[in-house]
Amino acid sequence: MNLDDRIDTLKGIGPKKLKNFERLNITTIEDLLYHFPRKYEDRRNTTLIKEVEIGNDYLVEGIILSKRYDGSPYKKNNLLRLLVTDDTDIIEVVFFNGKYIVGYFNIGEKFSFYGRVSENKDRKQMAHPEFYKKGDPNDVRAIIPVYPVTEGISQKEMRKWQHQIRSLTQNLKEWLPPDIVKRNRLADPSFAIDNIHFPKEKKSILQGKYRLIFEELLVLETGLLFMKKQDMEVNEGVQLKNPDSGGEFIKSLPFVLTKGQQETFKSIKKDLLSSKPMNRLVQGDVGSGKTVIAEIAMFMMHKEGYQSVMMAPTELLAKQHFKSLKNDFEKFGIRTGILCSSMKAAEKRKTIEDLKLGKIHILVGTHALIEPNVLFKNLGLVITDEQHRFGVNQRMKLSNKGNNPNILVMTATPIPRTLAVILYGDLDISIIDTMPEGRKKVKTVSGNTKDRNKIYSFVKKQLKEHKQAYVVAPLIEESDKINAKSAEELYEELKVKFKEYNVALVHGAMKQEEKDTIMEAFSLGNIDVLVSTVVIEVGINVPNATTMVIENCERFGLAQLHQLRGRVGRGGDQSYCFLISDSESKLSKKRIETMCKTNSGFIIAEEDLLQRGPGEIFGTRQHGLPEMHIADLVRHVNILEKVKTEAELILKEDINLSSKSNLILKKKIKKMFGEEIRLQL
Ligand code: ADP
Ligand code: MG
Repeated sequence: MNLDDRIDTLKGIGPKKLKNFERLNITTIEDLLYHFPRKYEDRRNTTLIKEVEIGNDYLVEGIILSKRYDGSPYKKNNLLRLLVTDDTDIIEVVFFNGKYIVGYFNIGEKFSFYGRVSENKDRKQMAHPEFYKKGDPNDVRAIIPVYPVTEGISQKEMRKWQHQIRSLTQNLKEWLPPDIVKRNRLADPSFAIDNIHFPKEKKSILQGKYRLIFEELLVLETGLLFMKKQDMEVNEGVQLKNPDSGGEFIKSLPFVLTKGQQETFKSIKKDLLSSKPMNRLVQGDVGSGKTVIAEIAMFMMHKEGYQSVMMAPTELLAKQHFKSLKNDFEKFGIRTGILCSSMKAAEKRKTIEDLKLGKIHILVGTHALIEPNVLFKNLGLVITDEQHRFGVNQRMKLSNKGNNPNILVMTATPIPRTLAVILYGDLDISIIDTMPEGRKKVKTVSGNTKDRNKIYSFVKKQLKEHKQAYVVAPLIEESDKINAKSAEELYEELKVKFKEYNVALVHGAMKQEEKDTIMEAFSLGNIDVLVSTVVIEVGINVPNATTMVIENCERFGLAQLHQLRGRVGRGGDQSYCFLISDSESKLSKKRIETMCKTNSGFIIAEEDLLQRGPGEIFGTRQHGLPEMHIADLVRHVNILEKVKTEAELILKEDINLSSKSNLILKKKIKKMFGEEIRLQL
């Protein structure tokens, strides 16, 4: 058995399991070894209910005192409530959508529950704990790893296979430079990996974790810095000559640029006039006017004979951009084209042909732009919108279609500046921190379940005025399927409530085409109320949608709430956001308060860093960086700072990473970043 062997060489893994593993990005035994638990359950000892503290995880044992199940079909959360006692105190155990397990619990029976204790109206509560009936052989007393799994692979199986390959952990050799290991007091890799999967005590998990987080961040940061250094070496990029060629376009705009836009444009202009290719990230809240800035840059490129390309994450967004670009550029005789995979083959062929001949000056599209047959005559500027949806990889693929073209990346995902500097090691950063004048702030109001009727009456009033509304269903699980269920229940309820209107549902378990069709109908005004899980596309612009209701908003993180709210307030009309929650938790109250207080993505991002509760989704995925297995870029920002210094030292001594001592580091960088970096490394 070797690290590079495919996992189907293991006993019990056939073609079917292999497919399931692929969904977890596991194809080799090494991948499996590096598939880390997302948490641990310390099931070594039970704790008396009177001794549990709010906010921590515990294993408690007790007898079911009472059981209540609220199963009305129009209630959105079919809530199962159990009262459990161990004679020292009582704890309430609740399950949302408890309909599938309600029959499993009988009064008087003994169960163990493992989960986080919260407080609900002065009573101790566990929501969605793991549970075992007394005598269940799986109810072991140990520290248990809990892995990210997928349909067709259970926790139990995952643990079994980790056991099967355990012997390999002994062969893992130290591959980091000895002085880095020493300076940062890192555990060696075999200790780290073994203790991550088979911990005996909490301390060894922490030591192992620290090492693995450190090494993962080091691979990331060295890769990013390497790319930045490569870019800086390039001196013969596309260089513009005339600093004033954007003026004509700016004059044609029906508004003046905000201060933030002007400053951003100034930096971009400087980049474009330099011989070094531009490599810039523009961050700005939704509606801050990033697109216009991109347009000015494209206009300038065109004036000196270069083509520009703009990539958006979805067809809908691409079409949206195409429409406004065409509208803004046509009068100057600039030809805008679009390329999406759903287009007819003949249309595509024509676009690609015109592009090659230079008859299309500006091209907008989706991932279809990356296809190898899409070639430009003279590509000077590559723009990606909502960058967090793309990998670093895809951005590189697109820019490889030009000869060191300028690169502009736009995102509305708020990231605190300190973090962004480290994350986007390969980009310069501009922030548009001002909003166009006259924009009405979204009014944000909080309420609880008792206010729902009032809130939905308000929504109805807006609908009567031919406005549209979003209703976001609560997030229940990490699984799309279960979330779809809760959204469906809400949809059924609202269909009745708004029977005079068109109500539609969109959720993550649907096919992309289905989602696109519904989103398109919504943007055309053919749907009045859109019920959805969090899938509402980032950047979707439906100015006629003026209200958003977010149910069980305590289940969303701040960054997410902000993103969601950004879907309304995009037209001239006053817009509203309703945050519904019954949660008594301090954290969620603080979050709601923040949302009601400010509309600024940057204030919210800073707060998010401070308040960040467990389970919030602010992952690497959102930033277009490679996916991390164990590191969390927000939570581990202080480790990241240390790592950055080390990565700089490594590259200072070995700029091309060609020395033998960096061989494994190089291999890991290639693996993390994928094929595009391979061309360079
Ligand atoms: P985003 O940053 O979300 O991509 P857009 O570029 O789509 O924002 O701009 C949102 C809207 O604001 C567009 O309709 C755009 O025309 C308008 N806009 C942009 N800049 C200004 C400005 N300086 N003054 C007034 N309206 C502006
Ligand atoms: Mg935009």
